[in-house]
Parts: sequence; C-alpha cells; structure tokens
Amino acid sequence: MTAIPYAEALAEFEPVIGLETHVELGTASKMFCGCATEFGAEPNTQTCPVCLGLPGALPVVNETAIESTIRIGLALHCDIATWCRFARKNYFYPDMPKNFQTSQYDEPLCTDGYLDVQVKGETVRIPIERVHLEEDTGKSLHVGGATGRIHGASHSLVDYNRAGIPLVEIVTKPVTGTGAMPAEVAKAYVTELRDVLRGLGVSDVKMEQGSMRCDVNVSLNKPGQEWGTRSETKNVNSLRSVERAVRSEVERQAYVLREGGRIVQETRHFHEDTGMSTSGRSKEEATDYRNFPEPDLVPIAPDVAWVASLRAALPEAPSVRRRKLVEELGLSENDSEAMVNAGVLDVVLATVAAGASAAEARNWWLGHLAQSANAAGVDAPDLPITPAQVAEVAALVASGSLNAGLARQVVDGVLAGEGSPAEVVAARGLAIVKDEGALSAAVEAAIAADPGAAQKVRDGKVAAVGALVGSVMKATRGQADAGMARALLLEKLGVSE
Ligand code: ADP
Ligand code: MG
Ligand code: ZN
Repeated sequence: MTAIPYAEALAEFEPVIGLETHVELGTASKMFCGCATEFGAEPNTQTCPVCLGLPGALPVVNETAIESTIRIGLALHCDIATWCRFARKNYFYPDMPKNFQTSQYDEPLCTDGYLDVQVKGETVRIPIERVHLEEDTGKSLHVGGATGRIHGASHSLVDYNRAGIPLVEIVTKPVTGTGAMPAEVAKAYVTELRDVLRGLGVSDVKMEQGSMRCDVNVSLNKPGQEWGTRSETKNVNSLRSVERAVRSEVERQAYVLREGGRIVQETRHFHEDTGMSTSGRSKEEATDYRNFPEPDLVPIAPDVAWVASLRAALPEAPSVRRRKLVEELGLSENDSEAMVNAGVLDVVLATVAAGASAAEARNWWLGHLAQSANAAGVDAPDLPITPAQVAEVAALVASGSLNAGLARQVVDGVLAGEGSPAEVVAARGLAIVKDEGALSAAVEAAIAADPGAAQKVRDGKVAAVGALVGSVMKATRGQADAGMARALLLEKLGVSE
C-alpha cells in the first residue's frame, strides 16, 4: 500500500489547498489580434502574424476581454486595479511561437476577493488572491507513440488556432480549515466558480473541451505546525476529477509523511482513467521567467465610472438565484445542497421547466441518474440524456404507462444510445400490461408454482398474495400492472377484500 485512506489521513494531518483555474473567454476574436476563436476549426486556419509571433507584428488589446475579466473580478468581490500593465513571461515552448507569453505578473487586474460555497451544510469562504488576464498557447499533437504523449512519438504537430485566445487565471489564496473535507470543498468551489462564470456569460466553461481547466495544489501538515510543501496536480478537467485529485493527493502525501519521507515540490499529472497522478516536473528550484513589462502595449487604466457601471449591471449571483428557485419549488435545504454539490441543480430546473414535478426531477437526478453517472465515471449532467427526456419518462409514469422499474429500464435504454424514451419503449416493448387476457396466464402459473402461498391466501392470509404478485411481475419482466395482477390473483383464489 502506498496510500493512507482519506479519512484516516485527515484525522492525522491538516490539509491546505489552493486552486488555479484557467478559463478561456468566449470573445469573438483573440486577445491581441483579430483572429477568430471558434473551437474545432481546421488546424492553423485561425492565425495571423501577431499570434504567430512574426517579426514586426504588433499586438492590440481586446477590450471585451478586459471587460470580462473585470466583471469576473467584481463577481468575486475583488478590488479592481486603476492602473496595471501586461508583462512578458519568457520561456520556450513549441506551441508558443513568440517564445514569451503575454500575461500579467505583479500588476493583475483584480485582487483580493472571495467566493462562498456550501459544503455539508457549512458556508466555506474561499479567498481569492488574484484574477489576471493572459493568452492561451497553441496545442501540440504527438504522433506515432502508443500513448499520444511525447515519449515514444515519431513526430509532433502544432496547431496555433488556440494561441492567443484570451485566458483568465483565477488563483485562490491558500485555503485552510477544510478539516475532513478538502476534496469536497475543492469540488464545491470549482462548481460554484463555473456557475458564476456561466452566469456572467464570459465563457462556455466546458471542462471537457478545455475551456475551463484546473490545477490543484495540496499540502499536509501536522496540527499546529507550519504548512507542508505543496504539490500541484495539472490536467484536472472535470469537476469529479477535482475531488478525486485532492483525495488521491491527500492519501499519497499522508503515506509519504507517515513513513518519514519528504514531499517534493513538483507538478503532477492527473490521469482520468485511474484517478491517480504521477510525478511531473520538479519545482524545487524556482524558475526565473524574467518577467518584464510588455513594451508593445500601453498600460490599462480602467475608468472608475466604467467599472462602477459594470458592477451595477452584474447578474444576480447563482447562489441568490438558486435560493429563489429552490424556494419557488419548495425544495429542502438538504436537497438543494445535494443538488448543487452533485452539479445537477441546473438540469433539475430544466427538467421541471420541461414539465416534470420538482419531486420527480429531484428523484431522478439524485437517484438513478446519479448512480448511473457514478458507475460511468462522469458527472450526471454529462450523461447522454436531456432534461426534456427525463421529463418525458416522468410523464409516462404519471400517466400510468410505466411503473418505476420500467421507467428505469427506459432511462437505461436512452443512456445506452437506443434513442428517445418513446423509441426505447417501442423497441424494448416496455409498457405496463393491463390486459386481463395477457395477465391471466402469468397469474395461473404463479399459483401453480407456489401452492403453499396460494393456500395461505385461500385460508384468509391475504398478505401472502404479495409473493404471488412478485412472481407475476418477474414472469412479465416487471411489466404487469401490479394492482391488476393482485386483483386477478385474489379473484382466482376466491378471496374478496
Ligand atoms: P505557481 O506559479 O507555482 O503555480 P501560484 O501562486 O500561481 O504559483 O499558485 C500557487 C497556488 O498554490 C495558489 O492557489 C496558492 O494559494 C496555493 N498554495 C500556496 N502554498 C500552498 C500550500 N502550502 N499548500 C497548498 N496550497 C498552497
Ligand atoms: Mg501554477
Ligand atoms: Zn492572430
């Protein structure tokens, strides 16, 4: 064993976490040039001399990107700089053609904010260090190797379409005091942050497409002692993985520390398939990026009145909007928190909007669908079923065409890609059988197969009919109308209620 179970690790050590979140803004053009930003275009079709770093090309700042960053800062209760500059961060990387990244260094646009999140009935305030603006890099594709990684590849291709897309980085201060739930807090924070960004309409925040990505910092210390050395896990690109990355790192570090070892300051790579991380680049020695103010761009000095107008026009915070909706639907505090933490509140609301009752929507998304998502290793909203389809199944149950068991089979069919609920019902022949003729054979067979139970019923122990109803249900693969089967059984056994 090379890990200590999560709860045991946290009984012995105190965790400190820190989250760095990169968000690609949804601007129509890039950060410093007019190139388009559409996802999935043919490689290298969205480039120009500026984002390719050709000699003599001069950058111009994208005003919408500045505005979006300030709005993010305001939504996170940050101070907005009245004057700041971009900086050159110098390093070589094949997918970064300028050999430096235009970023913000010691003069970020937004500083010192916070975001409150709900975890297990507690409000946890996550302090925000900074929100700054930079540009994304291009993408390398390593060809020929077994794993798609650079090791073992025969050659690499570079796509510069992403190079220069505005990227906002949101960095938390070290988060202490999360006790037994650092992983849950980390996930709740990223979930809430994603909702805030979505509400602002500044990014499509699709973790699976990389428009929102997280680096997860974790350290452990003995109670009362100084913070430990942190590791930084990269490539964490789903909400579920944020939680898993913290959890596995707590378990790994606790083991190293208990064995008397030392945590190395390093980046680690998270692997979606195993839920484990492996060691990457050492950060023991601080890299000097030789940051210096970008000479090709003028400083940014956001007008105070403009910032005030952006503040006044901010949308309602998701937490406020949620509270209102939850009250409207009559959901309990527990339910709403469970939904927020499972990331399903939006799909629950959409399911209600599509016609389901609040209770039905809740039961599906916190019940069978949550279990299916867990088994498939995805977040429930990413399951291949839409809120409208869930509402359709709920309507079939409400109208009496499906019972709970059949409804689950219909949902499973939709998840398996067999089509819409109506198509699955038709293809699998899933509908409640209410036809007396069709049921009576199963009723006769049930009585013949269990004469003991049948006799008990005849003798007046009506409760014993339950076993016979069960075998009728089994024989009809759950499709018999249970009430009708019961009535038929009692009739055949000569008992009246
Ligand atoms: P780097 O460039 O090395 O990634 P940043 O300052 O951008 O550094 O981010 C470091 C992140 O790690 C921040 O979120 C910070 O709050 C967090 N952090 C700093 N010290 C610790 C620690 N001891 N344990 C956990 N997280 C930490
Ligand atoms: Mg970092
Ligand atoms: Zn360009």
